[in-house]
Amino acid sequence: MTALVGHLINGDLRTDAARTQDVFNPATGEVSRQVALAGKSTVEEAIAAAEAAFPAWRNTPPLKRARIMFRFKELLEQHSDEICRMIGEEHGKIFHDAAGELQRGIENVEYACGAPQLLKGEHSKNVGPDIDSWSEFQPLGVVAGITPFNFPAMVPLWMYPMALVCGNCFVLKPSERDPSSVLFIAQLLQEAGLPDGVLNVVNGDKEAVDTLLTDARIKAVSFVGSTPIAEYIYTTANAHGKRCQALGGAKNHAIIMPDADMDNAVNQLLGAAFGSSGERCMALSVAVAVGDQAADALIAKMQVAMQGLKVGAFTDSSNDFGPVITGAHRDKVNDYITSAVEQGATLVVDGRNPEVAGHEGGFFVGGTLIDRVTPEMTSYREEIFGPVLQVVRVDSMQDAMALIDDHEYGNGTCIFTRDGEAARYFSDNIQVGMVGINVPLPVPVAYHSFGGWKRSLFGDLHAYGPDAVRFYTKRKTITQRWPSAGVREGAQFAFPS
Ligand code: NAD
Repeated sequence: MTALVGHLINGDLRTDAARTQDVFNPATGEVSRQVALAGKSTVEEAIAAAEAAFPAWRNTPPLKRARIMFRFKELLEQHSDEICRMIGEEHGKIFHDAAGELQRGIENVEYACGAPQLLKGEHSKNVGPDIDSWSEFQPLGVVAGITPFNFPAMVPLWMYPMALVCGNCFVLKPSERDPSSVLFIAQLLQEAGLPDGVLNVVNGDKEAVDTLLTDARIKAVSFVGSTPIAEYIYTTANAHGKRCQALGGAKNHAIIMPDADMDNAVNQLLGAAFGSSGERCMALSVAVAVGDQAADALIAKMQVAMQGLKVGAFTDSSNDFGPVITGAHRDKVNDYITSAVEQGATLVVDGRNPEVAGHEGGFFVGGTLIDRVTPEMTSYREEIFGPVLQVVRVDSMQDAMALIDDHEYGNGTCIFTRDGEAARYFSDNIQVGMVGINVPLPVPVAYHSFGGWKRSLFGDLHAYGPDAVRFYTKRKTITQRWPSAGVREGAQFAFPS
């Protein structure tokens, strides 16, 4: 018998399931537990619990909501080892990488602790004679989050801490592939004092998602995942009158200028391309080398540095990265590598089918380096989401920028250079939402907001940070006058000015 991971609804742990699905330990390839996939009626119960909790939560002062977040942060820190272990067991990422993910999640809880300040609104005295006007930011009601497998702790923490401190109640549908840490973290928030029903977690698949997208009680949907699903979520949520932000996939390019500090660029690329097995939406998967000299130097140094890469199980912290999420995904990554070779690229380091002693059944792909990739190749056009770095050779910085601008994705990008003028031109003009200058993973901190451009984000507002206050609230503007005997006016028919 394997354990069954279920749901948290109205403060109760439940395992009702329309179906169940295997959860794997990707380092061994074995099934470690099952996840309960909620049917429509279970999701509807979660929505009803959130709706019932909303009136009292809406009227809870922001300071009291924030105090729960302070306690939540402490509990997350106290239980960080357990959380990282759960992430490692189901996602496969190495302990230190899981700790980094959790820390970035906790930073969003810290930002949410500022709720009283963030929700202060705007006030103008005397917009007219004895007339004051102010804008306040009111919660939407019940909102939903749908999250991907690759950051099981962090991405949900991008969403619900801010949604909750803004006064909303929440239904979270996490990834069914690594569900344990999410459920555990939600229980910590209950322990921190969150009233029952304010946060509900339902595990599930398309049936659960479609219920959230079509139920009139859900007022807004935050989604993070692949682009085809993001587009589906955005159009369906919009068609049902909901506010939606849907963050999608990526193909993040790094420009390597001829004047770059090449040793530094290689070190940065190693972590950014292969960390977390390349299963990050901000992974640097394409290096665009400007000039053959830069390309040759990059390839030579990269080839040497990659000999030291260690792939293996999350339990050994000396490993650099772990397996990919499933056997099917490993096969897909391998197929992309094969297709690049078939379409004319040069395979410099082949990571297919690495030997990982004691973990022969695991879903491993080793670090892979492919040179002379061109824009027509399938492996260039599509997101691989594996530990594969592709090198494209161009003649000029303008050609490199045109390549990036022409790609359908626009999540993150970066330039390695010593030339401040070139870097400034790049960051000013490139059509990408998050830009690094000698910083390979320019993931905004929690007090900025996260989001790509083009088909990496459907919607207007980015995730977390200041944009989250706007996304999870609606503005109400109140104009007030208290007439006294001295200022009473007759009827006015001209537009007030
Ligand atoms: P995914 O799109 O397969 O799944 C994401 C969520 O959508 C899951 O909760 C899943 O259950 C649900 N889902 C899947 N298929 C569905 C369907 N047909 N109908 C309704 N719901 C469905 O993504 P994933 O494989 O879990 O995550 C990897 C992807 O997420 C990559 O493309 C990565 O780039 C992207 N991602 C993007 C960001 C970002 O901020 N832009 C961050 C992390 C991950």
